[in-house]
Amino acid sequence: MLDTLLPKSVSRPVVEAVQDFDPAAVNIPSGHYISGRLVPGDGPAIEVRRPSDGQAYADLPEAGETGVDVAVCDASTAQQQSGWGECPPRERGAVLRRWADLIMENRLELAQLEALGSTRCISEAYTGEVPFTAEAIRFFAECADKYSGDVLPTRSRSLGMLMPEPYGVVGAIAPWNFPLSMASWKCGPALAAGNAIVLKPSELTPFSTVRLAELALEAGLPPGIFNVVQGSGQVTGAALVRHPLVRKVSFTGSTQTGKSVMTDAAHHGMKPVTLELGGKSPQLVFNDAGDVDTVAQRITRGFMANAGQACVAGTRLIVQRGIAEALIAAVVRHARVVVPGVTWKANSRFAPLISQRQAEKVSAAVSNTVAAGAEVLCGGSFFDGFGGGFFYQPTVLIGLQAGMTALEEEVFGPVLTVQIFDDEEEGIALASHSVYGLAAGVHTMDIGQAMRATRRIAAGTVWINRYGRTTDFIVPTGGFNGSGIGKDLGRQAFEANLRHKSVLLDF
Ligand code: NAD
Repeated sequence: MLDTLLPKSVSRPVVEAVQDFDPAAVNIPSGHYISGRLVPGDGPAIEVRRPSDGQAYADLPEAGETGVDVAVCDASTAQQQSGWGECPPRERGAVLRRWADLIMENRLELAQLEALGSTRCISEAYTGEVPFTAEAIRFFAECADKYSGDVLPTRSRSLGMLMPEPYGVVGAIAPWNFPLSMASWKCGPALAAGNAIVLKPSELTPFSTVRLAELALEAGLPPGIFNVVQGSGQVTGAALVRHPLVRKVSFTGSTQTGKSVMTDAAHHGMKPVTLELGGKSPQLVFNDAGDVDTVAQRITRGFMANAGQACVAGTRLIVQRGIAEALIAAVVRHARVVVPGVTWKANSRFAPLISQRQAEKVSAAVSNTVAAGAEVLCGGSFFDGFGGGFFYQPTVLIGLQAGMTALEEEVFGPVLTVQIFDDEEEGIALASHSVYGLAAGVHTMDIGQAMRATRRIAAGTVWINRYGRTTDFIVPTGGFNGSGIGKDLGRQAFEANLRHKSVLLDF
């Protein structure tokens, strides 16, 4: 599908190009990336492990306040002196398009780097994550010269204008679950709008974004406009949010961390924030949803993609009684046939959990819920035979009561809860969540029913008769309530990286 969208020069080579690779042979760009150079860190280092087998494969330098200060000050100077913020927006767009081309030219290398250290299997990294990253950057490149301010209807002898301008330095913080594409959703709009950016990737998946920054420089981005600082959230992330020259913060991560980022941003300069946070998204299936097996596949992909480590994972199946038995049986059937495998094997289709900590969290959520009375329809434990890697079986739970862990909390693993309802009112009530409002799926052939449910479910995105994002990057994504503030993607994400000056000129 994506091939039809890509220019010929960068269209995807045949999928057979994806082969097993040797994880020990991958070149790792270790260090911070500041002012166009890879800077080895000094000070404490964090051990980075491969999620597929738990082996330590690199040390990560950690930037403290001083290291972050260097990166942010360099970014600020570059933004003011390189002309990036003031050059014709079309020229900025051209650099970003070249960058996207280079990402595709280096697709295999990026995909291997991503697959080595994250939960993305090489086939998905190569056919999904890397091309999606390039396409998101191309989308924002197109925004660069297609947004204007406004001329305002003021008194006759005056001219009122709303003039957009970049913030200066944007501080961006990304999670580990889709390291490259999450970075592109932050960097694409910030750079297209003329800002410099300092990005802190997750300490669990830190390296692919450094290569992304190197390619940006090769594409013509002035040194210092895209910087990467490495380290933990509490040290490096907090120092970045608090730095006085960071004028806007763009964060993706958990709701818990989002609160602390918002608090820091308020106390250290009253900075605007874009917060893309957690979710506990419902999949509401009515009796007339259509072919049961098709719907079951949709539901299964919705909660199992990236082993459930997706913010929009549809982890609460809420199904009407008439279709419940057949649908649950089909979902369990599909969930049982997944093929887990280390991320560097071409035929691996089911990812590991990112870390031991995440594995313990998923396992505890399931066992607490079962101890509280829920029944396991499939899964409920780890796959055997993976040594130090944590591959959790797709798990379906039924017999849930309000308050049970797996029903209420974001588990971030391949765990689906099932609830059965009788009428529309009850189904919509079950779909709502007291904290989260990220995404929802509504499955019905009755357009009236679909739209009634859509209007009433508090979620930033509602998918009707599908589940999951597409390459339509014009569709913004973002959460309601505890799932966040503002949008990634879409024109809204671009506009959020500009501030607007009101100008009144008398003549
Ligand atoms: P996390 O909140 O633990 O960490 C996210 C990032 O924040 C990391 O880079 C981390 O180092 C940093 N961080 C941690 N503490 C910080 C602090 N005090 N100050 C500044 N930065 C800090 O999240 P995670 O475990 O990496 O990612 C999973 C979470 O991300 C899930 O909740 C998921 O739903 C969410 N997510 C949301 C979206 C979305 O679009 N809404 C997309 C992907 C992931």
